[in-house]
Amino acid sequence: MVPQRVWPPSDSDSPDDSAGFTPEIVDRAMGAALDAARRAAHAGDVPVGAAVFTRDAVVAVAGNTREQHSDPTAHAEITALREAAATAGGWRLEDCGMAVTLEPCPMCAGALVNARLRLLVYATSDPKAGAAGSLYNICQDRRLNHRLVVSPGFREEEAARLLSSFFLPRRGRR
Ligand SMILES: [Zn+2]
Repeated sequence: MVPQRVWPPSDSDSPDDSAGFTPEIVDRAMGAALDAARRAAHAGDVPVGAAVFTRDAVVAVAGNTREQHSDPTAHAEITALREAAATAGGWRLEDCGMAVTLEPCPMCAGALVNARLRLLVYATSDPKAGAAGSLYNICQDRRLNHRLVVSPGFREEEAARLLSSFFLPRRGRR
């Protein structure tokens, strides 16, 4: 995958890749997601962050709190979706996008479909659990009743660096 520092990807040949969102709002949302990932790492959780945005505002930001809350479902994406839906006053987030620092797992990819999100932008791929293109492509499965525009690789290096600096010292201690 070619790392993308700009969004939407300049090599994109599909006119609807932006899903109607501006590069500014997507960049702002990914910046907020990366900050949330850093906060997760400081609290001892795997550094993953997610942000839900509309066309003109970031409406929810969350980090992974699985360890902090002893909750297997407390992935950043789930918490951010819950906050966004609470703010919106409804579970349908059809006009929203999500920026997340790591490719969503099957649970989170399923939640994005259930929330009817329009766009998913993620930074780094997850070959071991990714369900938005790596192991599965739940977000774009034609058998399901909703599909998202999926845009991988945006600000990939920053997210990958957070993950490797979190895991490397741990491996060294063993
Ligand atoms: Zn997940």
